[in-house]
Amino acid sequence: MTRHPPSALAAIARAYGVTLEEVTVANEPAWKGCCPFHAEKTPSFYVYVTDTFLCLGCGASGDGVEFVRRIEEAKTAWLAACAAHFAEHYSMNRARAAQAAASAWGACLQHHGDQASALTSCLPADAADECMKFGGAA
Ligand SMILES: [Zn+2]
Repeated sequence: MTRHPPSALAAIARAYGVTLEEVTVANEPAWKGCCPFHAEKTPSFYVYVTDTFLCLGCGASGDGVEFVRRIEEAKTAWLAACAAHFAEHYSMNRARAAQAAASAWGACLQHHGDQASALTSCLPADAADECMKFGGAA
């Protein structure tokens, strides 16, 4: 198989934990993997030589800046949902819930290995029961 020059966006996506394999789309090299923006078992997330991405599953698309914005936004949303869960189910105040959410995120990252897997395989509400136990943070 011919090696193609690496795509900057593919390298960024990999740094966030997206596993990509090289494929050919319309006679151009491309990279395919499981989408970091929705849970899926069959890869439908593509990175193209133009350094743009498109998910055929959830429709997420954009360039490298958009990729980083979206994945950081997903993390922020995860933390907020997790904090809300703690506040509601463990009667924590906002500051304590935010702190617990941050430590659940740390445990979740450790448990799942990378940000893309953590975001797509661990629901914020599960963090208390699964990842926090795993990370000993509960
Ligand atoms: Zn997707």
